[in-house]
Amino acid sequence: TPRIFSGIQPSGGMTLGNYLGALKRFAELQDRGQETVYCVVDLHAITVWQDPERLTHQTREIAAAFLASGIDPKRSILFNQSQVSAHAELAWIFNCVARIGWMYRMTQFKDKAGKNAENSSLGLLAYPSLMAADILAYRATHVPVGEDQKQHLELTRDIAIKFNHDYGVNFFPVTEPLIEGAATRVMSLRDGTKKMSKSDPSDQSRINLTDDADAIAQKIRKAKTDPEPLPDTLDGLKDRPEARNLVNIYAGLAGVAPEAVVAEFAGAQFGTFKPRLAELAVEKLAPITAEMNRLMQDPGEIDRILGDGADRADAIARPVLEDVYRITGMVRSR
Ligand code: ATP
Ligand code: MG
Repeated sequence: TPRIFSGIQPSGGMTLGNYLGALKRFAELQDRGQETVYCVVDLHAITVWQDPERLTHQTREIAAAFLASGIDPKRSILFNQSQVSAHAELAWIFNCVARIGWMYRMTQFKDKAGKNAENSSLGLLAYPSLMAADILAYRATHVPVGEDQKQHLELTRDIAIKFNHDYGVNFFPVTEPLIEGAATRVMSLRDGTKKMSKSDPSDQSRINLTDDADAIAQKIRKAKTDPEPLPDTLDGLKDRPEARNLVNIYAGLAGVAPEAVVAEFAGAQFGTFKPRLAELAVEKLAPITAEMNRLMQDPGEIDRILGDGADRADAIARPVLEDVYRITGMVRSR
């Protein structure tokens, strides 16, 4: 039977990219009646330095974003990764299945490690191995993510296949990515060739789910664009990444195809389009921001939800891990 898993790092506040590429889809899958397991991946976040107090706050804030976007902790399992130790344990096994060369090829590692790769954490290199463990601890079959995680999901498949092959079993499913919608890769508002990221040092590069209406309008007004008006077909946006990005964001928020957006705004200047985009963004995001703020008033309740989710997650992952220990020949005597 299909089972959905996905996670978001508490490495900063939620962005519009996280919302359109991931969170919005998570809620839709839950509402379609799928079995959904969602995780705030705190162990992933510390692959780059996180101030402990900030990490705690951000973990709760990401959990609040899940809840405010419609994740129902009764219908979905919602928890934070470090409370279910099977993730870290299975990641170790996968560290011994995956090859170092596979990790060095990952573009996310190259981007995040930068020029001084030798000085990045070993965890940053092994990140995809932990991600494979997150998914496969639940033997999840489908993983909704943004476009940027496609390569990591291919590596998850490779790890599942190699584990099954090395141990002569048919134990782990070969996971399918779900990369769907108009905004699977939201770009930075300052640079149309860079992904919008919660860890980008520039706050102007992104819209945060905690931004108020004024901040959203100001960031969209200042977003980098070119001097041309909008074309009447998507073809006309080919070499205009910043313009293409704003069209995709509009489409993602409105729940329509990008083709419909250029058809509607054909010939419009950005001076016309940007205020309309800001209005739409505020309309869609303000209720989520308000609910996040409300939930953050009661961190104890968020922690209780995460703890309950962790118990239910553990009940699935622990037996899977025990099977893995047995398959690999570890003595289990208690
Ligand atoms: P970081 O910069 O710390 O890596 P991030 O913004 O990339 O943070 P992640 O926690 O790494 O967020 O990713 C969470 C989910 O959001 C993933 O499914 C990822 O594919 C998706 N996602 C991240 N950025 C974007 C984006 N710009 N557009 C669409 N989806 C995105
Ligand atoms: Mg990321």
